[in-house]
Amino acid sequence: MNDRPRITLFDTTLRDGEQSPGCSMNVQEKVRLARQLERLGVDVIEAGFPIASDGDFEAVRAIAATVRRPIIAGLARACRPDIARAWQALQAAERPRIHVFLATSDIHLKCKLRISREQCLAQAREAVAYARSLCADVQFSPEDATRTDIPFLCEVVEAVIAAGATTVNIPDTVGYSMPEEYGQLIRALREKVSGIEDVTISTHCHNDLGLAVANSLSGVQNGARQVECTINGIGERAGNASLEEIAMTMRVRADRYPYETGIASEQIFASSQMLAEITGVPVQPNKAITGRNAFAHEAGIHQDGVLKNPLTYEIMTPQSVGVPDSRLVLGKHSGRHALALRCEQLGHKFDRRELDEIYRKFVVLADRIKRVHDNDLIGLIRETTNGIGEIPVSSMQKIGPHSAAIEGFALAAAAAASEGGPRSSQPAHQGPATALFPERRGEQEDYLWGV
Ligand SMILES: [Zn+2]
Repeated sequence: MNDRPRITLFDTTLRDGEQSPGCSMNVQEKVRLARQLERLGVDVIEAGFPIASDGDFEAVRAIAATVRRPIIAGLARACRPDIARAWQALQAAERPRIHVFLATSDIHLKCKLRISREQCLAQAREAVAYARSLCADVQFSPEDATRTDIPFLCEVVEAVIAAGATTVNIPDTVGYSMPEEYGQLIRALREKVSGIEDVTISTHCHNDLGLAVANSLSGVQNGARQVECTINGIGERAGNASLEEIAMTMRVRADRYPYETGIASEQIFASSQMLAEITGVPVQPNKAITGRNAFAHEAGIHQDGVLKNPLTYEIMTPQSVGVPDSRLVLGKHSGRHALALRCEQLGHKFDRRELDEIYRKFVVLADRIKRVHDNDLIGLIRETTNGIGEIPVSSMQKIGPHSAAIEGFALAAAAAASEGGPRSSQPAHQGPATALFPERRGEQEDYLWGV
């Protein structure tokens, strides 16, 4: 047993990630990705924002009904209709969570919500109390927390804890914070807010200055025990903290970040590939951990070093994050097991019947072209699954542009391999809890999307 603190990984690929341009997904695609996130070992899946659209509602409902192990969260603004709708979508969940958010920075209060701090405080308190009356697991996010006056932020956090919040998430909504500054904010909350020791503090950092992962890690070092993140770091604008970078940093540099996560790291590459395939948005080639060049060594001196000993230039093995072993070439003598394994590495898990069909076609193809590369295999999967429905046609139509990226990855890996050898406290505000808590959807309609 080790006594390293366990960090809860809260994946918001299906909510914050899905908000990014070009990354929208349909219900079937979201369910498929949620299943992969479960295999990957995330602790919480934020499945969507149920009141935002019927499609979002349906996606949260379907995921809540099919994905059993992780907590399933639904997002809601701090108003009764949103919270009720989120709760409705979560009915079938084994472990439901309602995630309520409300902006707290002066600029958001004045320019967006047009409410006073007192009104904000009362609305947050009332919303959390209502959510808690429905669900035992309630998360609250003070949107734009990092640009909120710290004494006021402490006041809000203390109020929502008293109202029943079990997790308090501190969003750097606009990606403005610096690592030390963000860590200090988490520390300040721990020092000043009464009751904070009874809840989980969470980070939610955006990458506008490229600091989302660094900020999240700084938050953890200062006491946060949940990190919100996305596969491939997708999300609003420049994206969110990348799940794979957080998880692998904690693994590779456990000396500096001695924390545990539940991530099965060998599922990282398949998760990344599945997301890219579903959205049609390729992974940036030099993306840490999941980019096609992340383990490619081109410079001669590097290749020479890696061939002599991978540790000369590799701080982790490609296999540890599930990058296909490029030495395993699929051909007509490959068995069903090897085929199933490579399919899984590319983000496709099939049942027996489906695998039978793919295998039949694979043998015919292998007989004809001798070596079956990843892009050939993806074409085969596409052709087969269109008929049996594992992957919706709509997503497969998007595969075109990305298959080139997958092929590129395979080529880069093959090139490296062909060189031979192994690689391997402020008092709570006591103002009146007035009718600020909107009863009807529409009163604060103009601020969809948050945190
Ligand atoms: Zn966000």
